[in-house]
Amino acid sequence: MQKGKINVQTENIFPIIKKFLYSDHDIFLREIISNAVDATQKLKTLASLGKFTGDLGDLTIHVNVDKKKKTITVKDRGIGMTAEEVNKYINEIALSSAEDFVKKFKTKTEADRNAIIGQFGLGFYSAFMVSDKVEILTKTYKKGGATKAVKWTCDGSTEYTLSDIDKTDRGTEIILHIDGESKEFLEEHKILELLKKYSKFLPVPIQFGTEKVWEKVEGEKDKDGKDKQIEVVKPRIINNTNPLWKKKPADCTDEEYKNFYRELYPYSFDEPLFHIHLNVDYPFNLTGILYFPKVKKNLEVQKDKIQLYSNQVFITDQVEGIVPDFLTLLHGVIDSPDIPLNVSRSYLQSDSNVKKISNYITRKVADKLEELFKNDRKTFEQKWDDIKVFIEYGMISEEKFYERAEKFCLLKNIEGKYFTLKEYKNHIEKTQKDKDKKLVYLYTNDVDSQHSYIEAAKERGYDILIMDGVLDNHFINSYEQKTSDSTFKRVDSDTIDKLINKEDNQISKLDEKQKEELKAVIEKNINKEKFTVVFENLSEGDLPFMIVQPEFMRRMKDMSALGGGGMGFMGNMPEQYNLVVNSNNPIITKILGDKEPKNQSKIIKQIYDLALLSQNLLKGQEMTNFIKRSVDIIK
Ligand code: ADP
Repeated sequence: MQKGKINVQTENIFPIIKKFLYSDHDIFLREIISNAVDATQKLKTLASLGKFTGDLGDLTIHVNVDKKKKTITVKDRGIGMTAEEVNKYINEIALSSAEDFVKKFKTKTEADRNAIIGQFGLGFYSAFMVSDKVEILTKTYKKGGATKAVKWTCDGSTEYTLSDIDKTDRGTEIILHIDGESKEFLEEHKILELLKKYSKFLPVPIQFGTEKVWEKVEGEKDKDGKDKQIEVVKPRIINNTNPLWKKKPADCTDEEYKNFYRELYPYSFDEPLFHIHLNVDYPFNLTGILYFPKVKKNLEVQKDKIQLYSNQVFITDQVEGIVPDFLTLLHGVIDSPDIPLNVSRSYLQSDSNVKKISNYITRKVADKLEELFKNDRKTFEQKWDDIKVFIEYGMISEEKFYERAEKFCLLKNIEGKYFTLKEYKNHIEKTQKDKDKKLVYLYTNDVDSQHSYIEAAKERGYDILIMDGVLDNHFINSYEQKTSDSTFKRVDSDTIDKLINKEDNQISKLDEKQKEELKAVIEKNINKEKFTVVFENLSEGDLPFMIVQPEFMRRMKDMSALGGGGMGFMGNMPEQYNLVVNSNNPIITKILGDKEPKNQSKIIKQIYDLALLSQNLLKGQEMTNFIKRSVDIIK
C-alpha cells in the first residue's frame, strides 16, 4: 500500500471547497457523472480506432444510493485508470485545477462567485463538498504491465492511500461517503432531481433505481380481447442518450419536434409555434433546437427557458450574454463545446467565439422567419399576433435583426388585414400625408374606448392600425427614428382633420368675438386647469365637444411611467387635455344664442360630460351628477 500527501500549494483547500461552494453543492454529481461519461466515450473512441479490441459490453453507468451506509456510488465501464494514472490525474492534475478554482474563487466578489459556481467545472474534487471520505476503485482497459486494479482513498485531509485490489471488471467506481451536513443527497428523490437536471441528455445510459412499467405479453389477450399487459419492474434509465438536436434536421419529423418540446418542458401546456434546428460545425461547433413559444404579456417570466449544454451535459439555463437579449424569449437547447463556461459573464460578452455564435443564432432566426413569411404568408399572418412581441423586441434591440426583419415585420389594421412596412406605406401614401409631406400612421391601442375617434377617421376614409402590444410604444418610437418620413398618431390625440393636417376647408360659423364670448362661458363650467379650450371648424355632423391629448404629451407620460429617458418629472405633471369645440355644430350656436346662464350651463355640462365619457374620464361624483342631470333632462 502506498500512502502519500497530496501536494497542496496553498493552504488546505478542502475546507474552502466546502465553505465557499456551499450555495451550489448540487454540481458534484454532474462532475462525477461527466467523468464517467468521458471515460466511457474514450473507450468507444479507442474501440472505433481499433486500439481497444476487447468486448465493450453493456456500458450503462450505474448510480446507487445506500442510505444505511451513507454512500453514493457512481460506477462506469469506461477506460479506468492504472495506479500511475491515479497519481497523475487525481493526485496532481485534478487537484491543481481544484486549487486553481479556489484561488480564483477567493478573489471574486459575492456576485461574481454566484456567476462562476455551476459554470466552472470544479471536477473530481467537488466530491468533497458533500463527502467526508471518497474512494476510487478502478481498473484500466489496458493489458499487461502495471495494470492491476487500485483503490484510492482520501478523507478530505491532505493525506491519501493507494493500494492494489482484486477488482476484475474494467472501469471505475467512485464511492462518496456523504457527510453529516449533506444528508439530503441520500434521498432518492433528491438524486433523481439532480440527474434529471444535469444528465437528462448524456450520451451514455445512466441507470438509477428501478421503475414499474406496463409491458405487453406476447401472444396473450386479456378478457376484453386486447393485448395482455403486465406490470414489470425494470432498471430506470434516466436519460435520453440520443436527443433530437443531435440528429440531422432532414431526418426529424414535426411530431418528433413537438414531442421533444414536451420532453424539455413537461410542465408546459402550450405547443410551440415553430422551431429552428441549429447545426453548424465551422467555424465553431454548435447544435440545438430553438422553439418559438407563444409570448405572454409578462416578458420577464418567459426568460431563462433556453438550456445550454456542452457535449450534452447541462450547464445552465441562464443564457444572457451568450445569445442576444431578445432571443432569451425563445425556448429550447443550445449545445456547444465552444462556449467557454469557466469564465464570468462579463468576460463571456466580449469573447469572440460567443459573439460569432450569437450572430449566427440571430441570423438563423431571421432566416427562418423570412422563409416562413415567403413560403407561407397565410400561416405567418396567423401566427403574427403571437410572435410580434418577439420580432419587435429584436428590431428594437438588435440593429442586425432590424435590417432583416424589415422585410417580414407586419402591421395589422382594424379590419384585421396585415401589411408589410413597405406595403403599408403604399397603402396610405395617397391619403394620409400631413402638410410637411410626412406619412401619418393612425393607430389605436384600444378599439373599444377609442371607438368614436376611430369612427370619425373611418368616415373620412383613413386607415387605422392596431397597436396594442406590450412593446408597440417602443416599436413606434424606434420606427419613427429610423424612417424620417413617418409619424405615428393615436386616433384620439387630436381631431382627425388636425391629425392629417389637411387644409381647413370648412368656414367657421362663429367670428372671433363670438368665440371669445363663448370661451368665457365654457370655461366657467369646466375644469380649466386640466382642459384648454380650442375652436375648430369641423363639419356640422361632428360632435360639439371632443377631448384630445396631444400625441407628444401622451408619449412623454408613457415614457416617464416606464421610468425611461430621465423623465421622472413628467410623472408629477398633471394630465393635460384639449377641449375641442366644434364651431359648426348647431348645439354650439344654440348655447351662444341662449342668453340665460342657467340654460347655457346645463347644455355645456351635458356635452362636456359626454366628451369626458368617451375618453373614459368621467368618474366618481361627476359621473353621479351626469346621470342625475340626464334623467332630469328626459323628465
Ligand atoms: P476533468 O474531468 O476536467 O479533466 P476532473 O478533476 O474531473 O477533471 O478529473 C481529473 C481526471 O481524472 C480526468 O481528466 C480523468 O483523467 C480522471 N478521471 C476522473 N474520473 C474518471 C473515471 N470515472 N474514469 C477514468 N478516469 C477518470
